[in-house]
Amino acid sequence: MARVLVVEDDQFVRSALIRHLSDAAHTVRSVGTALEALREVAQVGFDVVVLDLGLPDLDGREALKMLRGITDVPVIVATARDDEAEIVRLLNDGADDYLTKPFSVAHLSARMAAVLRRARAQGSSGGPPSRALRVGGLTVDPLRRTAELDGRPLDLTRREFDLLAFLAGRPGVVVPRRELLAEVWQQAYGDDQTIDVHLSWLRRKLGETAAHPRYLHTLRGVGVKLEPPQ
Ligand code: CA
Repeated sequence: MARVLVVEDDQFVRSALIRHLSDAAHTVRSVGTALEALREVAQVGFDVVVLDLGLPDLDGREALKMLRGITDVPVIVATARDDEAEIVRLLNDGADDYLTKPFSVAHLSARMAAVLRRARAQGSSGGPPSRALRVGGLTVDPLRRTAELDGRPLDLTRREFDLLAFLAGRPGVVVPRRELLAEVWQQAYGDDQTIDVHLSWLRRKLGETAAHPRYLHTLRGVGVKLEPPQ
């Protein structure tokens, strides 16, 4: 009997999973997006998370990394890609096991039992998460949606926070503008001004300028990266 969080945007798959897992006497909660999953995991203790990788808001690998940033709860990823390299990457990113869609309930139950056995043997509780993202003097807590710079709380708008949290999740990595638009704004197309405007607001709040960057670095024509001041 486990507390299970099902993260799945397909209504049909989701209801089927809920029904079968409940029938097997598990306590099930379900959400349809990665951000809802992060929120749930922050508030409720789970024994296992079943994470669909094709979610509407975040790329599956990103969702997994963000989950891993805040909790040690066992995660079984459900992937439509039967691709060995991808599966190895997911396991390296912190997945405990995986299932290739479509999978049977019996298969899921077996994987869940194995993952739960391992977790219990290690004394992992899936308890309340505590980990925030830290980049230099910057601390970003994606669940509580708080950010601090050198211990001073930052007053950010929703979008500024999303942008900062996304960049803080991959410090030192140049994130292409197109990816920022897709991940933070959920837009396939858009003009660069949207990003530039938010970057300049964020910079002001971080006490820096484009000419004298500390954390936020814009690489013209390439993208943006966040890294600790040198
Ligand atoms: Ca999906």
